[in-house]
Amino acid sequence: MSEVWTPTRAAGLDRIAAFQPRMGRAYAAVRNTDFGPGRQEAVSQLSPWVRRRLVTEEELARAALEAHGPRAAEKFVQEVIWRTYWKGWLEMRPEVWTRYVAERDAALAKVEANAGLRTALTQAVEGRTGIEGFDDWARELVEIGWLHNHARMWFASIWIFTLRLPWTLGADFFLRHLMDGDPASNTLSWRWVAGLQTQGKTYLATASNIEQFTEGRFRPSGLAKVAEPLSEAPIPAARALPSAAGQTPDGPQLLLITAEDLSPESLIGPWEMAGVVLASEPGTATSGEVARVFLGGAMDDAAARAEARYRQPVQRLPGLEPEALIAAAQAAGVTAIVTSYAPVGPTAEALARARPVLAAQGMELVQVRRDWDEAMWPLATKGFFPFKEKAPTVLRMLGLPA
Ligand SMILES: Cc1cc2nc3c(=O)[nH]c(=O)nc-3n(C[C@H](O)[C@H](O)[C@H](O)COP(=O)(O)OP(=O)(O)OC[C@H]3O[C@@H](n4cnc5c(N)ncnc54)[C@H](O)[C@@H]3O)c2cc1C
Repeated sequence: MSEVWTPTRAAGLDRIAAFQPRMGRAYAAVRNTDFGPGRQEAVSQLSPWVRRRLVTEEELARAALEAHGPRAAEKFVQEVIWRTYWKGWLEMRPEVWTRYVAERDAALAKVEANAGLRTALTQAVEGRTGIEGFDDWARELVEIGWLHNHARMWFASIWIFTLRLPWTLGADFFLRHLMDGDPASNTLSWRWVAGLQTQGKTYLATASNIEQFTEGRFRPSGLAKVAEPLSEAPIPAARALPSAAGQTPDGPQLLLITAEDLSPESLIGPWEMAGVVLASEPGTATSGEVARVFLGGAMDDAAARAEARYRQPVQRLPGLEPEALIAAAQAAGVTAIVTSYAPVGPTAEALARARPVLAAQGMELVQVRRDWDEAMWPLATKGFFPFKEKAPTVLRMLGLPA
């Protein structure tokens, strides 16, 4: 793992401090330019740490606001809350995730059965399409595990409208290899490019835009000239945000740390836990080598911090199988397991499967949600514009100088 991507909370905090001077007007001015690997100084590259909550959205927004004030920090804070908006939006519409998973699996089955599609997909993910830029980003994604936002938009647009590959397979390629691969930001951004998220509005990558914002590194030819929006069956109405605990309930309990929030010590007290377990992410979402190594390092870091904070060894679990959770709780002599709230994705699904099995053994699973999520997510009812209009009031309520 390169030094740039040290997967610890300490390295995340150092990166916040180092980027803080550039979170103001400098960010707004140059954030759209993709300067290429090793030269990404216009953006923070903090997304892998935020994704695993080695550092939080609140810490990023606070750093920007404290250093630059609400006007100059507006653009940076707005990007941070894009992440929060996507999280809240998906949390209230979980069918969009389950539909994506089903469509992805159906597309993968088609790939198995169709040699032409298989060849086209292999060429795309191996960066052998002959399309300048696109091939470079495909390799960059696999080798580095991170792409600039603009490159992600161009890549997704070319994938969907020029190569005409199923969008779910592109989203899957990203999710496997990005160190920040996130069910909400990734799925909904791909949907946005495809014209599914904001109905009828697509994102078309053009050679001139790519040339301008890569400082002339790429000017691909043969790109699609039009981007007809994809279509789908209507999305079911939004549900209310599922309830969660605001703080750790009283009584002896087992602390369960998951890959969704690797800073339990800033969310879950008291420090006298009857036991602490750290569970690996279920499924194969993070299967790219670089993303896997980042996550593994982040888990080790979380275990070390938890051992120091809760003053006991942390037991590692290979996943979230209910039998293993029950055994750990029994060994700790408790009937309550407390964990951070897992947003829509594989961890939430595994916890939902475990809950009734635990309940049948008289065990309770308590999920604690951060104040930031509790206050912001319910506001993601419509588009991003009304969400961002309401954000400053909420940020002030949370004690930020917005
Ligand atoms: C097709 C596509 C797929 C994407 N998949 C993911 C993903 O899986 N995980 C992910 O975290 N982001 C995803 N993004 C959003 C965005 O590209 C990254 O969050 C951003 O590039 C991270 O770089 P940074 O940390 O330097 O961001 P900065 O510009 O420094 O912004 C600071 C923080 O704000 C958040 N942020 C910034 N831009 C966005 C955005 N457009 N949407 C949501 N959050 C944002 C990130 O947490 C980021 O760390 C995707 C975008 C597209 C177009």
